[in-house]
Amino acid sequence: MNSFNYYQPTEILFGKGRLKEAGKVASKFGCRCLLVTVPAFQEIEPALQLIKSVLKENGIEVVHFDKVIPNPTTEVVSAGAQLARETKVEFVIGLGGGSSIDTAKAIAVEATHQGSCWDYLYFRQTQPTERTLPIIAIPTTSGTGSNVTAVAVVTNPLERSKSALSSPRLFPQVSIVDPELMLTLPPYMTAVTGFDAFSHAFESYITPKCSPYTEILALESIKVIFRYLDAAVRDGQDLEARGKMAWADTLAGLCIANSAVTLPHGIAMALSGMYPQVAHGQALASIYLPIMRFSLKYATEKFATIARLLNPAAAAINDKEAARKFLDQLEEFIESLGIRKSLKEIGVIKSELPLLAKTSLVLPDYTNHPYIVSMSEVEELLNESYELK
Ligand code: NAD
Repeated sequence: MNSFNYYQPTEILFGKGRLKEAGKVASKFGCRCLLVTVPAFQEIEPALQLIKSVLKENGIEVVHFDKVIPNPTTEVVSAGAQLARETKVEFVIGLGGGSSIDTAKAIAVEATHQGSCWDYLYFRQTQPTERTLPIIAIPTTSGTGSNVTAVAVVTNPLERSKSALSSPRLFPQVSIVDPELMLTLPPYMTAVTGFDAFSHAFESYITPKCSPYTEILALESIKVIFRYLDAAVRDGQDLEARGKMAWADTLAGLCIANSAVTLPHGIAMALSGMYPQVAHGQALASIYLPIMRFSLKYATEKFATIARLLNPAAAAINDKEAARKFLDQLEEFIESLGIRKSLKEIGVIKSELPLLAKTSLVLPDYTNHPYIVSMSEVEELLNESYELK
């Protein structure tokens, strides 16, 4: 067997109704916190009220930063960091989707270090230190796994660029995964976030960086997502489906924290950097099929394994046929979720495809793919994704 590392310092509290434990959990980290969320709206109001009251009951003063936006920007992080410094909070709580959790993580760095969070991206020389504020992550989507990763994704609108901080200091100390918080997520967001979770599990499995440990987590996550995502999209109030998706997302997050994402993520990050209105999971869904059809010959055995995991009848056919069957199943899956949209449909401008191709090869994600693509190959894949065939 090959050698591998596995590291996961986040304490996970998983289960229905566990948000009410947030006060007791948080009291270990101090008596003043920054609660980081999107602006309140009807669906998340009950969760906001509950968390504020359980924090208060445990003697914790709450400073509420409610300015998070999807695909959060450096400006939003700076506004939150300034508030955190002014109010001298001792820890941060990110409650929401990946955007809220990542904003909380980036604030935890910027509030305690010189300059902007953008100065601490994963490739910079200066990295977050022990001064980083403790982080509690409470997801309300099942997609990004950010509640168990060491990553915070931020967008710099001036550079039209989306990148990431990545440091062990950014693993949340505690993550509370309460499927009741996901019941209000609308069908389209359920579909795209669920597809994001699938892509984490899938890419962490097909990469050569997959370990025997992450392989088990990834395959289980893929199986659960194919079984339950559709049900969660059709009936948001289906608590069993929500619970299963929260579990699959957690597993997929553990995978990316210890394995890697691949080419689709490099492209999707570049795409949302240039087009911040595009949800991360939609960016992935819009490019996935051409990339995976192209990748079949480099990962035939792994595609075949997934085909057999999802459909035991595929045991009777050879790897190549089974791998093709998996791609057919993936196409049906994306179609049935209602997220099969071309790059054109999601607003990408055709003349920008060469720039998008170039930017897609900035993050190292593409180097983790089973085959390392050239820029002209990426451009070809983007052209194929531009209009549905
Ligand atoms: P999001 O946080 O951007 O939320 C999307 C929308 O859904 C928002 O309008 C939000 O208010 C709404 N919403 C969230 N929960 C809701 C609920 N329960 N009910 C009703 N509405 C709800 O979406 P996301 O996909 O979870 O996060 C995307 C961000 O996470 C992107 O920036 C992406 O790049 C990043 N990401 C981070 C990691 C990581 O490891 N840090 C991994 C993958 C993706």
